[in-house]
Amino acid sequence: MAKLYYKFGVMGSSKTASALMCRFNYLQKGISVLLLKPKIDNRDSSDEVVARIGISAPCTTFSESENLQVLFDEQNAQNKFKVVIVDECQFCTKKQIDQLREIAENVPVLCYGLKTNFKGELFEGSKRLLEIADSIQEIKSVCQCGKKAIMNGRFVKGLMVTDGQEIEIGGDEKYRGLCWSCFKKEQEKTRVYEKIIKHLNVLKELDSAGNWSGDTSADNIIMQTPHVIYEDDVKTFIEDFKEFQIKSPDKILLIDDNIDTLRKITMKDKDFDYMMCLISFVLKLEKDKPGILKTLIEDGTMIKWLKQIKKCVDE
Ligand SMILES: [Zn+2]
Repeated sequence: MAKLYYKFGVMGSSKTASALMCRFNYLQKGISVLLLKPKIDNRDSSDEVVARIGISAPCTTFSESENLQVLFDEQNAQNKFKVVIVDECQFCTKKQIDQLREIAENVPVLCYGLKTNFKGELFEGSKRLLEIADSIQEIKSVCQCGKKAIMNGRFVKGLMVTDGQEIEIGGDEKYRGLCWSCFKKEQEKTRVYEKIIKHLNVLKELDSAGNWSGDTSADNIIMQTPHVIYEDDVKTFIEDFKEFQIKSPDKILLIDDNIDTLRKITMKDKDFDYMMCLISFVLKLEKDKPGILKTLIEDGTMIKWLKQIKKCVDE
C-alpha cells in the first residue's frame, strides 16, 4: 500500500542527501522515481537537487501555483514512475500537499524538508504534512554543543536574526541547526550586540570620560575615597552593559587586574564572548580600582575592544 511519508530535519541534517540516497536505492532495484522540487524564486532555474556532500540528481521543479496531481499525470503518461520524492517540501502550499496526498493513493510519496522556519514556526507545507502524512519521521542531527538540534537559526554575518521574511531572496545568510539553549544564547547575543555596539561611536568622540570626585568640590567635609564621576554617555554605556554583565569574569579570563596587562591584550583570535567578558571584568574592577574605566576609555583601549566585538560579528 502506498503511503505519504514526511521526513523532516533541521538545516544541515542531510535531508537532501537522504532523499538522493533513497532515490538511488529505488533506481538500483530498477524502480523509476520522479524527483520533484519547489521553485523558491524565479531566478532558481536549476533543475537539479544538490546535496551539500556533493551528490546531485536531475529533478522536475514546480511553482507554487502548479497542480502536482496534474504535473504527476503529465510526467507519468507512460506509467513509469513508481515512486515520488519531493525535496524542500516545506515550500509546498497546503493545496499541493493535499495533491501529493492523492498521488500517494497509488504510489509512495516521500517528502523531505524542514519542519520550522528561523522563527521556530511551521512552514505551510510542513504543517499540512504533519496533519495528513501516514508516516512522520525525524532525521536527527546535533547542535554545535552536542545536544539534539531542533531549531533553524538564520545568521547574517555573525549574528542570528529572528526578524524578516520566511524566505529571504538573495540574502547573504546562512542557516544552522541549533538546540533550544544555543538558539536562546544566540538570540541573547544579538540583543547584547545591538545594545552595546551603538556606544562605540559615542565613546570614540569623548575627550574626557569623567572627572575625579576631588576635582569638583574642595569644601566637601565628608572624606570619601576618590572616585570618578562619569560623563552621562559613559553612564549609559555602563548601564546598558550591566544587564549582560558576567558574574565572575576573573575566573573565566584568568588575567590579572594590572592596567598594563589589560592594555596589552592582543586582539588576535579573541572572540565575541571573550571581549564581552573583558568589558565585564573592567566594569567590576572599577569598584576596587576607581578610574580604571576612565583610563581605558581615554587611552582608546575600550574603543579597541568594542571594535573587536564589531569585527567578530562582521567577519
Ligand atoms: Zn546547543
